[in-house]
Amino acid sequence: MSDLEAFRLEARTWLEANCPAEMRTPMRGEKDMCWGGRNWTFQSDTQKQWLEAMAERGGTVPDWPKDYGGGGLSPAEAKILKEEMAAIGARAPLTSFGISMLGPALLKYGTEEQKKRFLPEIARGEIRWCQGYSEPGAGSDLAGLATKCEDRGDHWLVNGQKVWTSYADQADWIFCLVRTSSESKHGGISFLLFDMESPGVSTKPILLISGNSPFCETFFDDVKVPKNQVVGEVNKGWDVAKYLLGHEREMISGMGLGGSGSLGAAVGPIDDPLLRAEIADFDVDALAFAAMSERFIDQLKAGEAHPAMPSMMKYAGTELNKRRHELLMAAGGSDALEWDSEASRGGKAVRDWLRTKANSIEGGTSEVQLGIVAKHILGLPGA
Ligand SMILES: Cc1cc2nc3c(=O)[nH]c(=O)nc-3n(C[C@H](O)[C@H](O)[C@H](O)COP(=O)(O)OP(=O)(O)OC[C@H]3O[C@@H](n4cnc5c(N)ncnc54)[C@H](O)[C@@H]3O)c2cc1C
Repeated sequence: MSDLEAFRLEARTWLEANCPAEMRTPMRGEKDMCWGGRNWTFQSDTQKQWLEAMAERGGTVPDWPKDYGGGGLSPAEAKILKEEMAAIGARAPLTSFGISMLGPALLKYGTEEQKKRFLPEIARGEIRWCQGYSEPGAGSDLAGLATKCEDRGDHWLVNGQKVWTSYADQADWIFCLVRTSSESKHGGISFLLFDMESPGVSTKPILLISGNSPFCETFFDDVKVPKNQVVGEVNKGWDVAKYLLGHEREMISGMGLGGSGSLGAAVGPIDDPLLRAEIADFDVDALAFAAMSERFIDQLKAGEAHPAMPSMMKYAGTELNKRRHELLMAAGGSDALEWDSEASRGGKAVRDWLRTKANSIEGGTSEVQLGIVAKHILGLPGA
């Protein structure tokens, strides 16, 4: 038996013994996701037990080094663990911007002290992070950001406003882009970490069309931040920001995999031949996307992905997810628009469909991703 086969057997045996039955059932909605953090209320004892069991062996971040709370697995082993979890329908023990966004940036750009301080907390789900990038005047043109960060000798002083900050009102800490110099647009940005309970931080939720309110305006009013909480070099935060965005786009591209199995099987028999054909067409594209996604993740983990590939995958995955929900609504007819009843689980289908409208905006819009692909992959002249 090869080492990888032995690892697969060991992972399967461990999962069988340690993944509670409830954690092998499909999530019924966002409430079943475990976000962790100081203020997190577990949905059940088993959710807590599953997180703790996985965190204990580095399973929340299998390919991070053991010293930082990870499992120390090779990319091939991490992939096997993922496959074995998928085979029994195991839920992700932890969903976290710390894992999918900040962690990779800290691993590349953080000091040893920062890695030791922040990464194990992320791996155990103890601190929930939010992302302070966008501002009212800086979205697609992110480097136009104006949140001011002044060097006050023994600390930084931050003043300004962020917008669309997902879960800012529930997060413990923020990774935030700030302007430390106005001399150069891209060269005057720094990447700062701070506690959302710092005096001067406030949040105001914004309502989405889905009826949920997962993101906020975030205000900084004379917020004092310790000097050692800049990641990377001062004024060189743009490099960190871009690297993190690649990981964010990789995460968002996963929406294209949305659920397992064929859409045709999920919606059942459909009378309308045109709709049937559209669904079959979708299923073929979804299979192609899944294959492309597997290759992309392999290349990314091996450090061989083209730097613009996350943009390509983000675009493809989110447009596919939007199409999936359009088709689900079409197949469901007017009943699918029902918004409130218990039978519709509070209008889950329609709210999920409305939520997908944001997929091609969050993490950078589809138009911007296409611009990146055109310029950096196809070599077309930039705008
Ligand atoms: C659900 C959701 C969650 C989010 N969470 C966060 C978060 O946690 N933290 C955070 O910092 N931000 C977050 N965002 C913000 C997101 O990153 C921005 O909305 C996005 O980058 C677009 O910026 P904007 O909204 O300012 O739109 P704009 O940049 O004003 O764009 C408006 C329109 O112009 C188009 N456009 C702009 N520039 C170009 C160009 N060069 N070429 C072609 N078309 C162009 C865009 O495609 C878009 O259609 C979130 C957004 C959503 C919807």
